[in-house]
Amino acid sequence: MNSTQEMKTTTAFLVLICSALCLQSQVSTPSEFLGYELGDRFTRHHRVVDYAKSLAAGSDRAIWEPYGRTSEFRELGVLVVTSEANQARLEALRLANMARAEGKGLPTDDPGVAFVWLSYNVHGNEAVCTEAALRSMHALVTGQDAGDGDVAAWLDNTVVIMDPCVNPDGRDRYVAFQDRTSGLTPNVNPGTVEHDEPWPGGRSNHYMFDMNRDWAWQTQVETQGRVTAYRRWLPQVHVDFHEQGVNSPYYFAPAAEPYHKIISPWQRKCQEHIGANNARWFDARGALYFTREVFDLFYPAYGDTWPLYNGAIGMTYEQGGSSRAGRAITTALGDTLTLAYRILNHHESGMSTVEESARRHKELIGQFAEYYSKNVSAPFGEHAGYVFPAGQDASKMAELLRILDANGIVYGKAPAVSSVQAYDYVSGRTSKRTVRAGDLLIDAHQPHGGILQVLMDPDPELSDSMTYDITAWALPHAMGLQAMALEARVKVSAEWTEAPQSKQASGAQRPYGWVLPGSGADAIRGLASMLAEGVTVRRADTGFALDGKVFSAGDFVITLRNNETVADLAGAVARAGVASHAAPVAVTSGRVTSGYDFGSSHYDAIQAPRIATVAGEGVSSLSAGEIWHHFENKLRYPINRVGALGDLDLDNLDVVVLPSGWYRMDDGDRNDLAAWVRGGGQLVAVGGACSAFSGQEGWGLNRYAEGERADIQAEEDRIQEAADERNAHDNAAQGLDPLPFAAQGRDRLRYDLPGAIFRAALDDTHPLADGYGSEYMTLRTSGRRFAALEDGNVAVLPPDDQGRPFSGHAGEMSIPGQKGSLVAGVHNMGRGSVVYLVDNPLFRAFWKSGHRLFDNAVFLGPSM
Ligand SMILES: [Zn+2]
Repeated sequence: MNSTQEMKTTTAFLVLICSALCLQSQVSTPSEFLGYELGDRFTRHHRVVDYAKSLAAGSDRAIWEPYGRTSEFRELGVLVVTSEANQARLEALRLANMARAEGKGLPTDDPGVAFVWLSYNVHGNEAVCTEAALRSMHALVTGQDAGDGDVAAWLDNTVVIMDPCVNPDGRDRYVAFQDRTSGLTPNVNPGTVEHDEPWPGGRSNHYMFDMNRDWAWQTQVETQGRVTAYRRWLPQVHVDFHEQGVNSPYYFAPAAEPYHKIISPWQRKCQEHIGANNARWFDARGALYFTREVFDLFYPAYGDTWPLYNGAIGMTYEQGGSSRAGRAITTALGDTLTLAYRILNHHESGMSTVEESARRHKELIGQFAEYYSKNVSAPFGEHAGYVFPAGQDASKMAELLRILDANGIVYGKAPAVSSVQAYDYVSGRTSKRTVRAGDLLIDAHQPHGGILQVLMDPDPELSDSMTYDITAWALPHAMGLQAMALEARVKVSAEWTEAPQSKQASGAQRPYGWVLPGSGADAIRGLASMLAEGVTVRRADTGFALDGKVFSAGDFVITLRNNETVADLAGAVARAGVASHAAPVAVTSGRVTSGYDFGSSHYDAIQAPRIATVAGEGVSSLSAGEIWHHFENKLRYPINRVGALGDLDLDNLDVVVLPSGWYRMDDGDRNDLAAWVRGGGQLVAVGGACSAFSGQEGWGLNRYAEGERADIQAEEDRIQEAADERNAHDNAAQGLDPLPFAAQGRDRLRYDLPGAIFRAALDDTHPLADGYGSEYMTLRTSGRRFAALEDGNVAVLPPDDQGRPFSGHAGEMSIPGQKGSLVAGVHNMGRGSVVYLVDNPLFRAFWKSGHRLFDNAVFLGPSM
């Protein structure tokens, strides 16, 4: 061997050694990769993604699958971990899993591999979750750091999909705050700045939405990406990792009552099995935990319920800590709760869950396939299908279809059926009804029938009233659509195709102007789009006829006159038609054949309003976020967000929107606002913001009308007496004192109104009610009530229906106050007005039915 040969051989040998070593070293521990021990500090999101990608690059057990970007452009993705052999056939395993969900039972050639999905940090400031994900990703990929668990054996029959951070925008907001405020050594004193996160906190995403309320509605870009990815895999087990208060220990499944009735005995039982294994891990080192309390399974858009309604074992795990805990904090008992300890707990519950799922993989797969078969052959509940009559508002129908698609629910066209027993969502009654050919039909017999039945449930039955969220959400009410629930099955007759709808302007070639229909749910979107382009638009306050066509009050008139400076007026009008799902009509003259001519004062000119809102301390970040999201993503109209009431530049504003909040207004603040409104300003108060004006001279809003309070109290007393009598009777039977201490917490629930649907009566002649008929199903999410206004009521709860919700639960003591109370009203002051929207119409962005009320309040001020 000459020296050159020798060198070549040595080099080859070194390369061989190095590649073997490098392959090993490519899978670093989190601390090697990050440069600090897990728990010493919080990890920024891009480093989390980098680490996950390094695991995927360095190991044949893992791949990284991106599924989207957040609003702030952070990468979203999952690390899919399983054995090398399973990785080699991963797509086949995925397809086999999808076949289990077709509703045809378990295929005979099923490969027998289960899917477990672990979601971390949906609430950004529950920041331990992602740190724990780093540790658990490493453990699953390497097989180290998993206690006495045999990771390799787990991964032979299980695919683990880990989403290390569901909400990176919120989490990095929190991590930046931690980095900024905490020093070299964490300060455990809870009174210090590192334990006091500033507004709006990192819990929510960019638009300040709580993404653990969004699974079913998918209004947020992160949820849309994640659920699409989730539905591509459809796991048998899903864990949503959270944190609760500093002084709470650990919580895991089984969950507390109420459970939605659709949750199967098997799903209940399997939670127990997994919980028991978690308990075994926690007992081994004496960790404290609790189960079966606080966290219920009802509202369908959580990270535990939504997976449950899709056939998985959905669970929430809660570590004690949260935003306040920082890197270390002293608890009420004087212990120090460290980030490292919080990581350990979430890491172990994750490992334990994978272990128990792997142990039960056959059962999980079998029951999962069974769940989907049952949906197809014998759907849950009393309704066999749902019909949305054809010819309804195009925008609302589009939103309905979006939600159905996003949940994997299939639908089609109905055949004509002359007589079918059906529940009517508007009247609340069941009777013989007619289905017309071409109506939208959703057959309940379908694989995703579970989530369908929950979302369409006219009145979900609570197994226990102790819930902390809304108790009614039926899609027809949320969308404001007519629908019926069928008692007998009707099969879909044809694929759904949307009725062809011209959005192009029709009529004259060289028009005098255009009319854009104003009645649609998204009509104000069309208006806003024109205003944003500088178009002057007029709103007809009475119906009129022209060119042989009939137009309605509330329609928008656009004339060439006053729009001379708009470069592309016809284009702007056409774009408004698209935005509002309506076709503009070109007209030849300003002289009408009935009604008033266009030059008349019956057409109020609307010019682009300058709008501002408050988003800062003292304001509900959720409400501020809903408003921001609505302007940016729905109306696509500019809004000025200022940090405090005092920052509003009133002289240069036409509309101010006050989100729900806890305003500390003094008389000076109110006087400034009042002067601005009297001069022509339009003030819109949402939800809790109404309280800032209640009982204040000149603002027209009061808790109770004259004499009303005494009546309500008398009725409350009657209910209380009846309850006392009932309790005395029950307690005597059990030999108990009048109200045992243990029952007192529960007693307070009788005053609660966590969220229910009420039928409101509307004055549909008022511009605030444009786009509505004489009724509106309102979602009321608190017991707060105000008396009907002395003038300007637009929506009130009818005084004659006992104040009970149309759908959902209200504590019995909350009911007397609801009768006749205000839902939405306008109080005129000088040249301007105040709109009180007592029930937040933008709630979680999914109550589509309320959006028009909000839009009218903001844009139709000149007509009020
Ligand atoms: Zn949480």
